[in-house]
Amino acid sequence: MPFPQTRLRRLRATGALRGLVRETSLSASDLVYPMFVAHGIDRREPIEAMPGVDRLSIAHAVDEAGEAKALGIPAVLLFGLPAAKDEEGSGAWDDEGIVQLATRAIKDAHPDLVVITDLCLCEYTSHGHCGIVRAGADGLTVDNDATLELLARTAASQARAGADIVAPSDMMDGRVGTIRHALDDDGHTDTPILAYSAKFASAFYGPFREAADSAPASGDRRGYQMDPGNGDEAVRETRLDVEEGADIVMVKPALPYLDLIRRVKDETRMPLAAYNVSGEYAMVKAAATAGYLDERATVLEALTCIRRAGADIVITYHAKEAARWLQ
Ligand SMILES: [Zn+2]
Repeated sequence: MPFPQTRLRRLRATGALRGLVRETSLSASDLVYPMFVAHGIDRREPIEAMPGVDRLSIAHAVDEAGEAKALGIPAVLLFGLPAAKDEEGSGAWDDEGIVQLATRAIKDAHPDLVVITDLCLCEYTSHGHCGIVRAGADGLTVDNDATLELLARTAASQARAGADIVAPSDMMDGRVGTIRHALDDDGHTDTPILAYSAKFASAFYGPFREAADSAPASGDRRGYQMDPGNGDEAVRETRLDVEEGADIVMVKPALPYLDLIRRVKDETRMPLAAYNVSGEYAMVKAAATAGYLDERATVLEALTCIRRAGADIVITYHAKEAARWLQ
């Protein structure tokens, strides 16, 4: 029935009508709040490119996790800044490492809050790459298979510390299967894996590298993270992670990759997380500070659209603010 019988504006007339026919919901229970926990600090250290996000001591991280929980956010994602770095990134699998200590402290204080641990080596390696670096034909390269063993150790250590979910973000081939075996061998058969399945080599990670002090000292990550032009490959990467035992898959970043959130969801039907990354956060903050955008409206629209694209879970630095606005 064409115009004038069909008038789509009829259902847009009032807020109540719009609410009744809204297809996508956004609530605090969809959100994950990422936090940076640093060894050896006793105060909050602001991160310049991410206003409102700080590097935290363990005590502050416990407070902040409690704040997130009180706002209805079910989970936090922990990144660690260790006391010292080395070639292998041994701080990552130290049972007394920063993420392990923070996980224990947060789980002690807030047992119902889901603690997800980022599982990678780049915050712990002196060179800033996500694995063991070797000299290759074309400069430095990350040794895939040698790195798997270190990721496996890290996963087991994080699970022993009480992590509810481990989240490998390294993009090594075969790591999900290796981590699954390591967790099972260590008795953590019920610890789920949230795999950063389609993680792109993105310029939008810039502010995070300042936050986590994890910029590669030389070279870049294009030898292991995905090329931004590739969509079919994102589906292949995700399928492989599912076959290897991933429980939740991820597309990262979110906003420039909404098409892939939808494709991966449609083609795998897996629980899907999308990471609204530091650069996406920083852009909105900068524009809002300059008065160019209404921050609240922009954030709630962006997060709703990430959900509409197919994400069940949205990881965002705006989680606490969004949860407050949604109350
Ligand atoms: Zn990494």
